[in-house]
Amino acid sequence: MITLALSKGRIFEETLPLLAAAGIEVLEDPEKTRKLILPTNQPDLRVVLVRATDVPTYVQYGGADLGVTGKDTLIEHGAEGLYQPLDLQIAQCRVSVAVRADFDYAHAMTQGSRLKVATKYTAIARDFFASKGVHVDMIKLYGSMELAPLTGLADAIVDLVSTGNTLKANQLVEVERIMDISSHLVVNQAALKLKQAPMRRLIDVFARATQAKA
Ligand code: AMP
Repeated sequence: MITLALSKGRIFEETLPLLAAAGIEVLEDPEKTRKLILPTNQPDLRVVLVRATDVPTYVQYGGADLGVTGKDTLIEHGAEGLYQPLDLQIAQCRVSVAVRADFDYAHAMTQGSRLKVATKYTAIARDFFASKGVHVDMIKLYGSMELAPLTGLADAIVDLVSTGNTLKANQLVEVERIMDISSHLVVNQAALKLKQAPMRRLIDVFARATQAKA
């Protein structure tokens, strides 16, 4: 049995067509079932639904043989023990800095003053501001980051941006793009050795579907 870890939402929805290209179908809809283990039409492949930030942990410790996870999650979690054979080029977005429209970001970045930054992505944010020589007070949040500058909790946020609609709806402006993000296939190295043939076949399925899209 091969176990593939996916998270509900964009990653699940954008992974389905890659599997479908090889005739692989997930037999239940995660939006309609409370089950966390979903069968597929392949008797030796099942999908487990985990939180996006837990995918690397499941794969690292063998709770799943492979998984699909965002580059942002991989950077924050660390990729220790994970083989990353493919950039699947799905769930594409970017990590950006955003502030209130009336906040003078350029001034704040040059004055040697401290910037209050709220984010879920503390590792990415810390590296970025350190590379600019800017001191930051980091405020770790787990969601609704957009609220932080609006309530005075922070001067800036570091968050994922796709269309920019969420920022716009909250009167925030994107002032810096830190990095482009897409989802990657991650593989447990022991599983790759122990279940070589079916694992290679599945990695191949993802490779061919990704190439076909390019
Ligand atoms: P948007 O309004 O299209 O710019 O999307 C921004 C919102 O969606 C933010 O709350 C992000 O955290 C979230 N988001 C955007 N892209 C992704 C992604 N690839 N994976 C997870 N969350 C995302």
